[in-house]
Amino acid sequence: MDNKKYFHALQILEDNCTGCTACVRVCPTEAIRVRDRKAHIDPNRCVDCGECIFACQFHAIIPRSDPLDLIHNFKYKVAIISTSYFGQFTEDISYEVAKQALYELGFDDVQEEAMVTEFMVKVIQNYIRANRDKRPIISSNCPTVVRLIQLKYPSLLPNLFHLEAPMSILTRYLREKIQEEKGLKEDDIGIFLIVPCAAHVTAVHQPEGAYKHLQDGAFSIGMIYGKVREHIKNLQNNPPQIATYPKGLTWALSGVQAELVDCEDIRALSVNGVENVMEILSRVEDHYLDQYDYIVMRSCTNGCVGGCFNVENPFVAMSRIKKMIKEGENGEVDIHELEELYDEGEFDVAPLTPRPIMELDTDIKAAIRKMKQLNEILTSLPGLNCSACGSPSCYALAEDIVLGKATIEDCVVLLKRHSKEDEQDPQQK
Ligand code: SF4
Ligand code: SF4
Repeated sequence: MDNKKYFHALQILEDNCTGCTACVRVCPTEAIRVRDRKAHIDPNRCVDCGECIFACQFHAIIPRSDPLDLIHNFKYKVAIISTSYFGQFTEDISYEVAKQALYELGFDDVQEEAMVTEFMVKVIQNYIRANRDKRPIISSNCPTVVRLIQLKYPSLLPNLFHLEAPMSILTRYLREKIQEEKGLKEDDIGIFLIVPCAAHVTAVHQPEGAYKHLQDGAFSIGMIYGKVREHIKNLQNNPPQIATYPKGLTWALSGVQAELVDCEDIRALSVNGVENVMEILSRVEDHYLDQYDYIVMRSCTNGCVGGCFNVENPFVAMSRIKKMIKEGENGEVDIHELEELYDEGEFDVAPLTPRPIMELDTDIKAAIRKMKQLNEILTSLPGLNCSACGSPSCYALAEDIVLGKATIEDCVVLLKRHSKEDEQDPQQK
């Protein structure tokens, strides 16, 4: 068992939790339990997919992101925006105005993830051609997908595309460039991500596979949205002239990345939504999809526009971004310097290791004994998998009982059955 402490960007507000178990039923990694009418998240199993945030009607699961004031600890403050940010505003708010509003929050520089799209496509294609033996290569830019593979599909770790994610590539590049151009020390520069999901906040605080800590914090789109809207009101009367790169916004949309990588000698597939991702990962494990060279996987509906920190419906956000791509004017992007850094190995990442889910016991004999015990308990449970006990299935409850985290009395169906029997035959008591 790995004793590493995992950071997570989701938090349960006990006072709001009613113990309804809706979150238990949607969690793809069975990380949530309800005991004594309160939900708890197992940090070893959580992949920060955010499904529980969507499921909770009582606002008892909230995102954790850094306070905006953090930027004042740095002389030079940079924001890197996830492409999904631009889908969050009504159509009367232009791309330029939405971007300028972030400068008004106090940033000295605002850069878009979209700037590295062209570079990424080229690098991914070259990587696929050089690693035909590992096909299908699986995209690594969704941190939830990376964690899912570490946790549930470790045999697929060699298939993961082995490079920093786009926002991290941009961070490395900007840090070097700003130090050089502004004559600043590394510690004077604060680089922050504006992100659509909990998984990205976690990736900033606990980067997987990256050699060193890259960014200085992450702000959820939802958290800054209100402040941004206030500035937008003033900016709309005086729209700014500002460089934008709509062509690169495709990165936020599921399907389009696969289309960009797909070419004469590369066949790509795209999948989104955590259930679909898990189904495809199982098929890749079974060599059922060996005909593909590249599979783009995003845990959220429609890709990052479906992230749990966004404010707009993912379908509406997707349509708005497509409109921007169609109508916008593209600034110049010189990928030459990025290519140089890439050649120097600046964007390489360390190999990822599996993240073992809790075993029954580290001692093999004790584990076999516990497995037997688990099966016995399982045969006495009703097999309804209703989650009313607070565990996601009867099997999970049996496992929790063996691990000392629950008791057979937690099964409400059995409890009711027994009390009915007692009513009918009080002598049996
Ligand atoms: S969905 Fe989960 S966190 Fe929300 S109220 Fe129900 S049990 Fe509590
Ligand atoms: S698809 Fe995008 S928004 Fe959703 S978890 Fe992955 S990286 Fe985050």
